[in-house]
Amino acid sequence: MTIRLVLLGRQGSGKGTQGARLAVHYDIAHVSTGEMLRNAIRNDTPVGKVVKDVIDKGSLVADDLMASLVKGRLGETDARTRGYLLDGFPRTLPQAHALDEITRARPINVVIDLEVPRELVLQRLGARRAAEHRVDDSPEAVERRLALYEEQTAPLIAHYRRQGVLAVVDGVGTPDEVFVRLVSAIGSATGVTARGGDGQSRR
Ligand code: AMP
Repeated sequence: MTIRLVLLGRQGSGKGTQGARLAVHYDIAHVSTGEMLRNAIRNDTPVGKVVKDVIDKGSLVADDLMASLVKGRLGETDARTRGYLLDGFPRTLPQAHALDEITRARPINVVIDLEVPRELVLQRLGARRAAEHRVDDSPEAVERRLALYEEQTAPLIAHYRRQGVLAVVDGVGTPDEVFVRLVSAIGSATGVTARGGDGQSRR
């Protein structure tokens, strides 16, 4: 079975770190929309020019633009053949509906809600701001992103619960502890434990 996974969680939930690790573990594409957009800005592409101010403020990029970026990326060979982990998309209900369309032929098989309380996320983002100097980790931008998460992204949890693909994973603990929980949840949902070599098929 090919893993096609969506990782949901507040900014600072450890989604990016765990996403990168899971992608290696299962040998699937790590599709982080935040990374894609930051690369576009760094390379000063047409998309980068459009999204820079939006991102710096901690606001959300338009749904249509995001959907077309993701559609293009999921159509690439690695994601099509080996599967993928989506990190940062969907973030709104219209994006989730767009993703339902994009994946109609090959549906998402597991959606993980990585649960970390707001207070802990605020502590972690404060530390990341000091270490990485991301403009969108300023206190104002963090406030806006967390508010947007509650307002726009939290409703996706009900959407995926209805589809029967949701797994909730406790994101509090060391990175290793959380990783083990994630692998166990993905195993229960898909039957896949790791990439080849352990007798398990990826496809
Ligand atoms: P992230 O690295 O996922 O926290 O994304 C960083 C920023 O990129 C967000 O605060 C948004 O401004 C923008 N962004 C990333 N993914 C999306 C998305 N799916 N929809 C809208 N904006 C996004």
